[in-house]
Amino acid sequence: AGLSKAGASYNMALQDVEKGVVTRFPPEPSGYLHIGHLKAAMLNDYFAHELYKGTLLLRFDDTNPSKEKQEYEDSIIEDLKLVGIKPDKTSYTSDHLEVLYQYCIRMIKEGHAYADDTDQDTMRDERMKGIASKNRSKSVEENLAIFEEMKAGSEIGLKNAIRAKMSVDNPNKAMRDPVIYRCNLLPHHRTGETWKMYPTYDFACPIVDALEGVTHALRTTEYTDRNPQYQWFLDTLKLRQVHMWDFARMNFIRTVLSKRKLTKLVDAGIVWGWDDPRMPTIRGVRRHGMTIGALRDFILKQGPSRNIVTMDWTNFWASNKKEIDPIAPRHTAVDTKDTVKATITNGPTEAHTEDKFKIPKAGDAGGKKKVGYSKHLILDQEDVKLFKQDEEITLMNWGNAIVRKIISSNPITDIELELHLEGDVKKTEKKVTWLSTGPAELIPAEVWEFDHLFTKDKLEEEDNWEDFVNKESSSKTIQLCDANVADLKEDDIIQLERKGYFRVDKPAGDGKPLVLFGIPTGKTK
Ligand code: ATP
Ligand code: MG
Ligand code: MG
Repeated sequence: AGLSKAGASYNMALQDVEKGVVTRFPPEPSGYLHIGHLKAAMLNDYFAHELYKGTLLLRFDDTNPSKEKQEYEDSIIEDLKLVGIKPDKTSYTSDHLEVLYQYCIRMIKEGHAYADDTDQDTMRDERMKGIASKNRSKSVEENLAIFEEMKAGSEIGLKNAIRAKMSVDNPNKAMRDPVIYRCNLLPHHRTGETWKMYPTYDFACPIVDALEGVTHALRTTEYTDRNPQYQWFLDTLKLRQVHMWDFARMNFIRTVLSKRKLTKLVDAGIVWGWDDPRMPTIRGVRRHGMTIGALRDFILKQGPSRNIVTMDWTNFWASNKKEIDPIAPRHTAVDTKDTVKATITNGPTEAHTEDKFKIPKAGDAGGKKKVGYSKHLILDQEDVKLFKQDEEITLMNWGNAIVRKIISSNPITDIELELHLEGDVKKTEKKVTWLSTGPAELIPAEVWEFDHLFTKDKLEEEDNWEDFVNKESSSKTIQLCDANVADLKEDDIIQLERKGYFRVDKPAGDGKPLVLFGIPTGKTK
C-alpha cells in the first residue's frame, strides 16, 4: 500500500484509463536488478495494482544473446518477489520472434524497410550528417532476399542489417532510419540456435507492447527522443495505440547504474559479485544492511519526478537507520589491534554474569542478554590512549572508575582502574565500552566497513569511469565481541555500541569468525 499515499500526494495519474490499465516492466536479462530498475518496477506496479486495479506484465526483453543469461533472468524473478512486486504475467520478447519476423517482412514489402551493408562507422557518420545510405533505394525483392540471408546467418546476411525507412535527415536523430534487425550467431538462452538474427529493442518494443495489450508504457526520459519513433512503428504497422509516460532515471553520486558497467566491475574482480555490499543492486544494498521496507520507502519518496537529479546516499541510509535503530540489539566489541588489558583493583572477586536488556529502550520486549563482569577487562586502544592519570571515566552500563595506572605507552598494553560506582556518570567526559574476559568466552568477528566504489561524485559521460575506481573501498578489523553474538543468524542487524550498525553476513561457528558488515547511517564521512 506504500506508494498509494505518495502517489496521491504527487497527483500522479494516467490518461485514458476507462478501459483498464496494463503496464509492463521490461528488464533485459543482462544483469541483476539495481535500485534504478526498482524505481521503474515500483512505478509500473503502483499504476497497475494500486491506482487502477489493472494488470502488471513482467517482460524479459531478451533479443541480444551476447548479453543475456538464464542466471540473470532467475535473479530478476527472485528479486522482484523479494521486494513484494507480483507480476500478473511473465512473457519474453523472444516468444514473439516469429511474429516479429513476419512484421519485418511486411515492413520490407510495404517499402518501409531496407537491407543495408554499410559498415557501422560509416552508418553512424551518415546518420549524424543526414546522408542517405547508398542502399536506401534497393528493390523489395533484393531486400527480402538479403533478409533471408540474415535469417540463415550466411556470410552476406552477417554483413547486413535491416533499417526502417523513416527519415534521412529528421532533426530528431532517433528518426534517422534506425536499425531494426541484426544478426547474432550466439545461441540464445531460450530459443537456442533457432534464430541467427534478432529485432532491436526499438522495433520489438512497440510491437510487443501492442500485441500484449499494454495500455501505458512507462519509460525513463532518456527515451523521450525515441517516442516519435515508437509511434511511427505503431502507425506504420497499424497497431493498437499505447500511451507513453516518461519518468526520470534515478542516479546516485559515486555510483554507476548501468548493467554494462556493473558487469565490468564483477568481471574485473573489483567487487566480489553482483551481491557485493558496495554494489547498487537490490542484492548489494540488502547485503549492506538496507531493509526491504526502507528501500521501498525511499524509492517511493522519489515519486514520478521528471527531473534527473543525482542523489546523495545520505537520505538513503538515513531512512534505513530510522527503521533499524529501534529493533537492533545492542552488543559490544573491542578491537584486537593493540587491545588494552585493564585490571580493576577493587573489582568483583568472582567473574559472573547479569541479565541485561538487549535493547534498553524496548525493555522486556527486546529480550535479554548476559553481560559478564570480573576484575579483568579489555578496552580499545583508541579510547585508552586519551586517558589521563587519576581521571574519572565511565565504563558504559556499569559505572565510573578512576584511572590509577597506565603501565606502558605507545601503544598502551595495561592499565589499572579503581571502580568508583558512587561517581556521577553524567559528569565524566569519557564513556567507554569494555568487555570482561570472563566468565564466558569472547567471540571473534571480522568487521567490514565499505566505502563508495568511485572517487568522483558525478561521473560524466566522457569520463573514463574505470580511472575513478576507489581502490580502498573496503576495510576489515578483527574484533572480540560479547558471548551473546554466538546466537546471531545471517541477516540479523545489530548495533555494536559506539561503533555503529552491522548486518550479520555469516554467523560464527565451526571455528569460523562471525562476519559483520558495517551499515552506513547517512552521516557523511
Ligand atoms: P542498464 O543500463 O542498467 O542496463 P537499461 O535501461 O538498459 O539499464 P533495462 O533492463 O532495459 O535496463 O531496464 C528495465 C527498465 O528499468 C526500463 O524501463 C528502464 O528504463 C528502467 N531503468 C533502468 N535504469 C534506470 C534508472 N537508473 N532509474 C530508473 N529506471 C531505470
Ligand atoms: Mg535497456
Ligand atoms: Mg542500458
